[in-house]
Amino acid sequence: MTDQDVAPAPDRAFQCEACGGVSEYAPGTYALRCPYCKHEQDITPIPRQVTEHPIGELAVLPRRASPPGRVKVYTCPGCHAVTESDTLSDKCQFCATPLVADASGTERVVPEAVLPFGVGREQARDALAEWTRSRWFAPNELKSVTEAETFRGSYLPHWTYDAQTTTQYTGERGEHYWVEEEDSEGRSRQVRHTRWHHTSGTVGRFFDDVLVPGSGQVPVKELDKLAPWPLEETVPYQEEYLAGFRTVRYDVEPEAGLESAKARMAPVIRADCKRDIGGDEQRVHSMSTLYSGLTYKLVLLPVWFLTYLHAGKAWPVMVNACTGEVIGERPYSAVKITLTSVGGALLIALVVLLVVMLRN
Ligand SMILES: [Zn+2]
Ligand SMILES: [Zn+2]
Repeated sequence: MTDQDVAPAPDRAFQCEACGGVSEYAPGTYALRCPYCKHEQDITPIPRQVTEHPIGELAVLPRRASPPGRVKVYTCPGCHAVTESDTLSDKCQFCATPLVADASGTERVVPEAVLPFGVGREQARDALAEWTRSRWFAPNELKSVTEAETFRGSYLPHWTYDAQTTTQYTGERGEHYWVEEEDSEGRSRQVRHTRWHHTSGTVGRFFDDVLVPGSGQVPVKELDKLAPWPLEETVPYQEEYLAGFRTVRYDVEPEAGLESAKARMAPVIRADCKRDIGGDEQRVHSMSTLYSGLTYKLVLLPVWFLTYLHAGKAWPVMVNACTGEVIGERPYSAVKITLTSVGGALLIALVVLLVVMLRN
């Protein structure tokens, strides 16, 4: 046995009905497009609704057939070459034919929903150009940004959780009052004080679709910047939407994701407690939360990853492939900034020189 799957699940390829080539999902549509003859064919929607699964179901799910990190072997239906990749979809490394795996063959949790690419490659490129243009001090060279070859669209796995929460809290309500006091020189003035009262209570809140990244490949902080996602536009998971894109497998288990989701709910609940306490100031000492009706689902979100080259350095950028939001580092032009400050210094020197000359 090697580190590879010995019995690969059947891979899907979507043949163009006009020329027999392999079609790809066309961003912004509900169709597949053939890269050779440009023929488009509609994706037949599967008769299924996106559903949230009770968290209790996790306990009875079998273990994953193939844990993340295990390389999957795709056999290209176009050129019959073999491609190794730890993904749910990819492209043939030789002829770029889209390859889509059967997720049920390897995954404990199969994606429930997919948010299809809305922004295509050209639009992502335009969004990047706009983003670099709008930056003050961005170098002139950015007008002719060179793209590195890593310009690719990926679906990233995310968990969403729903929960009805009931929280019992204890805390203190602070009420302001004013006291007339005399200062050291005998003048009277109003001084504000706070009187604290112990309090406790119960607050409830329903959380819908709390989003948690399902892959550690991209830092959570960076992914959070791509939010918000138009989750109402998700469709039931269907392999056609993956054709032509890379799909990352989840490596954060849903149980661990739930803990992150609870951590995201906590500050919202704390704010609810403070509102419930009322008064002028609030202290929360303890919160005990019961979660009922907990559900989860796995959803794939579309991101363009691009790297542009500038001054011998590669700059990574992500584009939310639904909203066009661009996230990334921007290079400041060292030359431009230096010239500006040198220019300022020269101007001051000139003024000083003039003043000195006029005085003499
Ligand atoms: Zn075709
Ligand atoms: Zn191939």
